[in-house]
Amino acid sequence: MTKTANDLSSLGWELDSMGELDHRLVKAPYIRLSSEKRGAQGDCVYVFDLRITQPNTSYMSTIQIHSLEHLFLAGFREHLPDSFISVAPMGCQTGFYLILLNEARARVVQKIYKKILTQILSMSEIPYANDKDCGQFTHHNIKEAQKIAKMLLHFESEWLGVFGVAA
Ligand SMILES: [Zn+2]
Repeated sequence: MTKTANDLSSLGWELDSMGELDHRLVKAPYIRLSSEKRGAQGDCVYVFDLRITQPNTSYMSTIQIHSLEHLFLAGFREHLPDSFISVAPMGCQTGFYLILLNEARARVVQKIYKKILTQILSMSEIPYANDKDCGQFTHHNIKEAQKIAKMLLHFESEWLGVFGVAA
């Protein structure tokens, strides 16, 4: 199902930012609703890009992306328990995929993302960093994750501008 312009703007997303996009034209960091799938019962699964670094220009280190994966997992579980399905790193190391059930309002996603990033700044440990919950539990660094969180919070006013800040 394709969202109409009205649907997208009422949810708070930029028009033309859904679906396939040209990675040469985007301006990171940004958040976008990339796709949705509605089931027969009316429930809807939404996939978002949490783009962090500029595609084909700069990348998170594997330790940053791994620690942020754990921090985002703990944060979205805590703050969006009914809607959160999954958060997973992009293989290109420039961001994460966030998957939610029945929640696609831009202001809600933005608010929770900000809350999680702000929490990260005052944390001293990485959640689930143990050999029971993680496949490489020594590969973490809270300070490295905090560098990314700080950068993202600095650019908060630009998060919803996928193609750069609207003039
Ligand atoms: Zn892990």
